[in-house]
Amino acid sequence: VDKPDFSYKTGRYPLTRRGWLFLGVNGGPCDRKCKHCYYAFQKDFIFYDVKTLKMFANKFRYYYGLEYADLTGGEPTIYPGIEGVLEHMAMIGLKSTFITHGQNLTRKKVKSYESAGLGDYLISLHGLEKSHDSIVNQGGFKRVVRNLDNLGRPVRFNTTIMNLNYKDLPGLAKFLSQREPSVYNMINFNPFHAWSLKTEIDFQEKNSTMAPYIKEAIDILEEKGWEVNVRYMPLCIAKKYGFAKNQVGFYQVPYDKWEWDLAVTHNLRQEQIYKLGGRERAQLLIAHNLVAPRIHDPRMPAGRRCGICRFRLICDGPPPQYQRRYGVDELQPEIGELVTDPMYFRRNYQQKQRGEEKWNSTSMAKERI
Ligand code: SF4
Repeated sequence: VDKPDFSYKTGRYPLTRRGWLFLGVNGGPCDRKCKHCYYAFQKDFIFYDVKTLKMFANKFRYYYGLEYADLTGGEPTIYPGIEGVLEHMAMIGLKSTFITHGQNLTRKKVKSYESAGLGDYLISLHGLEKSHDSIVNQGGFKRVVRNLDNLGRPVRFNTTIMNLNYKDLPGLAKFLSQREPSVYNMINFNPFHAWSLKTEIDFQEKNSTMAPYIKEAIDILEEKGWEVNVRYMPLCIAKKYGFAKNQVGFYQVPYDKWEWDLAVTHNLRQEQIYKLGGRERAQLLIAHNLVAPRIHDPRMPAGRRCGICRFRLICDGPPPQYQRRYGVDELQPEIGELVTDPMYFRRNYQQKQRGEEKWNSTSMAKERI
């Protein structure tokens, strides 16, 4: 099993300054029941009170020095009095994002949130009308699309990719491409919590089946100036289908400004972060701890295959549940010099864009990511 050594690149890329302002116990309540919800099997959803959320906001801003926080866990638009939290966040310089299904964003509510200081929205759009409605609720697609007209702040979009919607991805990309360029995330379903104990998950799809549609969607949106991220896809599959540069897994999260600082999410104290070698190294070690049981343990099916791969220190591989269900035949390890830079593919792509074919110390000095 590899011992990660990421020290050589420390400080080369800006780290995320964003945290996850979790709204309640077990995620907090939501007024919809999306098929793939991480908390589908959890009960006892309770929101924290406003005072507790303000305390979390203070901790993010003053203890960890964060600048952004995503309000999510449950559904922020059903939290009574969330405006008080938004006002507080604005006052202390912590920019707020709602991660929301967008169903309740009426003109009146939006006005109230935005006047209280809400920074932007990250909206779940899980396919075109038929697929989205089958995943979220009947009439949901039309409602969220109508509500988009009410928003006066920037909007980004999320789609959790699964068998119910992957064929929609190019169509959805065409639909989004008519808007101002923004950010679009295609998120591979992560079997967290109770999902991890299952083998069959009826809405799940094989990565290599979804990959060509993902690539088509990327091409459509990138041509129009959108930033497109694909979250939690094994790198060999992303590479085979031509979107390794778009892949963001646990090892890339620390460098993604839209993602949550892993050390903060894992509630590390500052002295622990210091002992682990600082914010960057602490996050990479957390990423490694999350991934190691999947692909670094030779007793796992992927462990045997990934153990020889040169990308094994920057790749999530598939989760254990996925390995049990689909096996690991679609993984294609690449033999060669071990890659330890999580931004390897994005950096190479950007260098190529600048006409710098070869990675060398001069290009390193010029690099701005
Ligand atoms: S480590 Fe495994 S999953 Fe990742 S690129 Fe290599 S073979 Fe594929």
